[in-house]
Amino acid sequence: MTQARPTPGSDTPSAPDSDAGLLPEVFQQAVEHAPVAISITDLKANILYANRAFSSTTGYAMAEVIGQNESMLSNGTTPRLVYQALWSRLGQKKPWSGVLVNRRKDHSLYLAELTVAPVLDEHGQTIYYLGMHRDTSELHELEQRVSNQRLMIEAMVCSSPAAMVVLDCEHQVVMSNPSFCRLATELTADGAAQSLVTLLRDNLATPIGELESHGATFAGKEISFDLGGRSPRWLACHGMAIHVEDERADVFFTPGEERYLLLTLNDISELRQKQQDSQLHALKALMAEEELLDGMRETFNGAIHRLQGPVNLINAATRMLERRLGDKAENDPVLTAMREASAAGMEALESLGGSIPVRIAEAKLPVNINQLIREVISLSTDSLLAQGIVIDWQPALRLPWVMGAESRLRSMIKQLIDNAIEAMSASQINLRELLICTRVENQQVVRMEISDSGPGVPRELALKVFQPFFSTKPPHRAGRGMGLAMVQEIVTEHAGMVHIDTGYHLGCRMVVELPFSAAG
Ligand code: FAD
Repeated sequence: MTQARPTPGSDTPSAPDSDAGLLPEVFQQAVEHAPVAISITDLKANILYANRAFSSTTGYAMAEVIGQNESMLSNGTTPRLVYQALWSRLGQKKPWSGVLVNRRKDHSLYLAELTVAPVLDEHGQTIYYLGMHRDTSELHELEQRVSNQRLMIEAMVCSSPAAMVVLDCEHQVVMSNPSFCRLATELTADGAAQSLVTLLRDNLATPIGELESHGATFAGKEISFDLGGRSPRWLACHGMAIHVEDERADVFFTPGEERYLLLTLNDISELRQKQQDSQLHALKALMAEEELLDGMRETFNGAIHRLQGPVNLINAATRMLERRLGDKAENDPVLTAMREASAAGMEALESLGGSIPVRIAEAKLPVNINQLIREVISLSTDSLLAQGIVIDWQPALRLPWVMGAESRLRSMIKQLIDNAIEAMSASQINLRELLICTRVENQQVVRMEISDSGPGVPRELALKVFQPFFSTKPPHRAGRGMGLAMVQEIVTEHAGMVHIDTGYHLGCRMVVELPFSAAG
């Protein structure tokens, strides 16, 4: 850029007269009234010209600055290196831009965003320097405040135990905090934040859908993940929409709105664990009572079963004798004795039947089979430890609800686990392993497999073992043979199926399939 030399001694530069027919006064007025502080100096930075904005920015009147060095504005706090850089660039005939701390006439300080440039003559020699600066103190303060606030928010979000993630409208992760990344490592196979988002979307489909369609925030939605340990992970989830304006320059005057989704997750597993522990204590007492009642029912049913045989025999013999004696039957002492024996037997049967403890009908509610298995494992921990049984619990990460009678289903699972423990304890095997797994089958049933490393059930008995009073145990052990019949009864009550997997050869594998509720 080539510019004309101002008239020496005058305090205003003259404008080029060759430019597009504009008068030099136009340039002079434009510089004079420009809203940025402009000064023109000699090669030692002595001020030859300063415009109005220079006066208003620095507080010095025009007459006070003409002839003074630009260093009059220096506060002495700008590092030497900055000035050296400024002068070095000017020495190379190149412009320089940077920020300095300037001092006004009233000694107040301000940040000056300064651009200096050499003014060259027609031979390319520097003849003046042009300086332009504006007070950016407020802008800097604002920027600094925003930056500090960002740092504080970042520190807060990063150190928060709550996991947070921001998703774009396509549910891609825009940003996440370390707690979220930790959770992703714990809950997903590949440990990726995006995989955890997929898992959350599967579990929070309805609230996220409502949030996106109606803008309704959601809070405290609880979801749980079974990881195979004693207790699952419980998360309380909150969601809210964030609306931000489009950042692109081309839509500056017609800004569109962009929507993001903020998900916050609080791990409430410890709280839930405590609640479950206290529930477990109550459950232990309840189960003990139920076991006692089941034992009584079993004993009564066993006694009825045993008595029914002889009574049936007596009845049959009585009928035969009645037919044989014909008219003389009424006075026959043997027949009379047999009739009395039969009546006494029937009476005993009736009395036994009436003494069976009544089972109180239980309402069917949505039940989580994983949770029931976990409870039963907790209840059986002592027996498992005593028998040196290693338990391998592989629950489905997420299982649909089964509509069922909770305590009946729990008893059924307990019976199967007790059977497995007993089978392994009885046999002389070294490896005592109990594998329990759950999964969803055909999108219709919850399948539970309980596999033990005991002697197994012979193929030919695979159906028989479910019959009442059938037992592979010695007959002197009273009250046996009703366990699997009870399992069969409970599974049938829930429209499910139970069978022994005859293809499993490492022990016995019991398979229970229960249809799940569509809402689950
Ligand atoms: P100085 O001794 O003046 O200079 C510090 C360093 O700059 C020295 O180490 C020296 O190497 C170098 N230096 C100084 N003068 C020259 C020179 N003529 N040629 C080569 N190197 C040199 N300063 C501000 O603080 N605020 C301003 O708003 C400001 N505006 C300016 C506008 C223009 C157009 C120009 C040319 C300079 C401006 N300066 C401004 C810089 C100013 O001239 C001083 O260099 C600076 O203020 C430092 O002053 P000082 O007295 O602390 O040190």
